[in-house]
Amino acid sequence: MDLQQIAHIIDIVGQENAIPNSPMSRHTTFKVGGPAELYVTPENQDQIRQVWSYCLQNSIDCMIIGNGSNLLVRDGGIPGVVMDLSAKFNEIVVEGNVIRAQAGALLSRVARAAAKNSLTGMEFAEGIPGTIGGAIYMNAGAYGGEMSQITEGVRCLRSDGTIVLRDREQHGFSYRHSVYMSSTDIILEAELQLRPGDPQAIEDAMEDLRGRRRDKQPTDKPSAGSTFKRPANGYAAAMIDQCGLKGSRVGGAEVSTKHSGFIINTGNATATDVLQLMDRVADVVESQFGVTLEPEVRIVGIDRE
Ligand SMILES: Cc1cc2nc3c(=O)[nH]c(=O)nc-3n(C[C@H](O)[C@H](O)[C@H](O)COP(=O)(O)OP(=O)(O)OC[C@H]3O[C@@H](n4cnc5c(N)ncnc54)[C@H](O)[C@@H]3O)c2cc1C
Repeated sequence: MDLQQIAHIIDIVGQENAIPNSPMSRHTTFKVGGPAELYVTPENQDQIRQVWSYCLQNSIDCMIIGNGSNLLVRDGGIPGVVMDLSAKFNEIVVEGNVIRAQAGALLSRVARAAAKNSLTGMEFAEGIPGTIGGAIYMNAGAYGGEMSQITEGVRCLRSDGTIVLRDREQHGFSYRHSVYMSSTDIILEAELQLRPGDPQAIEDAMEDLRGRRRDKQPTDKPSAGSTFKRPANGYAAAMIDQCGLKGSRVGGAEVSTKHSGFIINTGNATATDVLQLMDRVADVVESQFGVTLEPEVRIVGIDRE
């Protein structure tokens, strides 16, 4: 991007909503990764649309992020614009049994709004540190629940500037997959269909899941959750464990000693450390089990020169 292009985008979102050269380690839960050339936090749909159409017209890369909780950004950072919807595009409205949430709303806030209104169906989501947009994109799920079970209409901004409402049948959900992974649509807002429930039972279920996460996962350490997807036959964490890889390290990256399915940043990891450790884990599991582990984390950006 040249300086004029950067200035034009800053004009759209306002000075207070733009940071040039902002380290992605500040915007991801893994806390690794080089800078976004221009990081912006749009406040409304119109700003999102204007930034995006300007980027498309000028061949500038534009990546949408939510809470950055499933991202591994390479050390050279992200050229172009990173548009973070979690900061200021995050309204939640409860209407009867339906919750309407903007893409940047955190799942934990939406799940709490559901509980407060005695709505059941979203308890699974409270401990997933993503946004509605990121969770629909990933079809995030846990403990038997996933976004596919509750997502009705999704309002999207298309690359031609139109806004479409995709209905329940059009999200193409399967395990950690949605149609949005192979489209350029930006998820703007979603309607979640829940059911009336018993408030105490909802609270108890959420507390139970919180406890299970605390006991089993390294939630106090920077990570992007499960590093690899669940393979067709078996569990990645169990295989990694059986290969004796628990606790193995490259630089500041470590296979968590609490849960082998997580790679954590022990404090000073680079993306290169994490990628090398992922390669090592995948190679050993492949040679011992003949199973190819596929990353669940989205690996983005460029290597450091
Ligand atoms: C401690 C921990 C525990 C976790 N536990 C779970 C778990 O139990 N289950 C689970 O499924 N995941 C889990 N995760 C992973 C992660 O939280 C989920 O994948 C989550 O849904 C990602 O949402 P996000 O907003 O952070 O997305 P981001 O990481 O910001 O983005 C993920 C992808 O979605 C795209 N995207 C985001 N928003 C939009 C949008 N509005 N429109 C179009 N594309 C968009 C991005 O471009 C990117 O490709 C965990 C992560 C951590 C750190």
